[in-house]
Amino acid sequence: MKNVFDCIIIGGGPAGCMAGIHLQRSGFNIVLIEKERIGGSLHDANIIENYPGFPAGIKGLTLAKKLEEHLFSIGVKVIFDEVLKIKFRGKFFDLVCKKGNYRARSLIVAIGLVNREKWKNKRIKNIYTRARDLKSWRNKVIAILGLGDTAFDASLRFSSASKIYLIGRKIKAIKALVEKVKEMENVKILNKDVLGISESKNKIIIRLSSKKKIEVDKVLICYGKKRNNAIFPENIKSKLRKKLIEIYPGLFIAGDFAMPEKRYISIAFATGIMAAEGAIKYLRGEK
Ligand SMILES: Cc1cc2nc3c(=O)[nH]c(=O)nc-3n(C[C@H](O)[C@H](O)[C@H](O)COP(=O)(O)OP(=O)(O)OC[C@H]3O[C@@H](n4cnc5c(N)ncnc54)[C@H](O)[C@@H]3O)c2cc1C
Repeated sequence: MKNVFDCIIIGGGPAGCMAGIHLQRSGFNIVLIEKERIGGSLHDANIIENYPGFPAGIKGLTLAKKLEEHLFSIGVKVIFDEVLKIKFRGKFFDLVCKKGNYRARSLIVAIGLVNREKWKNKRIKNIYTRARDLKSWRNKVIAILGLGDTAFDASLRFSSASKIYLIGRKIKAIKALVEKVKEMENVKILNKDVLGISESKNKIIIRLSSKKKIEVDKVLICYGKKRNNAIFPENIKSKLRKKLIEIYPGLFIAGDFAMPEKRYISIAFATGIMAAEGAIKYLRGEK
């Protein structure tokens, strides 16, 4: 069979990139498969302010670009394709992708998380779950659902909107972000639940728990991340909840997918290198 690798890394976010860099330097025949863009969720982040060495912060997009440059400069092979299924074949893992099929002796899954799409009604346009998909916001009224770090980060990104409503039960974001956003004159924080979303005359109507309604142009949903296990065989899905990095001999997980409650770049890097170390030991036949 063509396309047989020592290790395949699925996902080109920080965790997958870290794993790729470490395995490449260890001399293995590897490939990283990414369905969209190298950098993953960094494309949705505005300014990263907890990245050591950058006290003034670094833009998410800049860091994504730097990761991409790093991968290519050391010769990591990248295939842009979407993995649809992982199949276990004795000592190999077979990957069924949209455009091709690949086989590996070991596998690192670093596919991040997906959003629960509660309000993403197909009939209503302009409801988004990723900041990168919201292409124009200048002079628009935007509702951001959620009061965590990503919601406050998005408010800073969309600062040229005419009005931003940040809606949620309780502020959970880090103090430094909250203070910056509270200085923005066009932001209003509403401590409410969203009861319903509908559309009327090209506007989105949000019904709040206070019985009040607000009218906006676009909605960004910033809560409810979850794992998407669909690519795994049934017998592996139950193991995902119980194990941390090595799920099955030769099969490792990393990043937000491994630790959905701890969504930080540094943790993605740490679990990425742990998964790569695990794969190296496995490939060498070490315990
Ligand atoms: C708006 C926002 C702001 C943030 N700000 C910060 C911050 O300031 N500081 C901080 O520490 N963290 C921040 N984070 C969190 C940080 O970005 C994540 O923890 C980190 O990106 C996780 O890396 P990852 O590689 O696990 O997953 P991701 O970055 O999500 O990457 C996963 C990759 O896998 C790919 N993929 C998924 N499924 C498949 C498939 N089937 N086949 C092929 N490829 C697939 C995706 O396209 C994606 O590129 C922020 C996150 C967001 C969304």
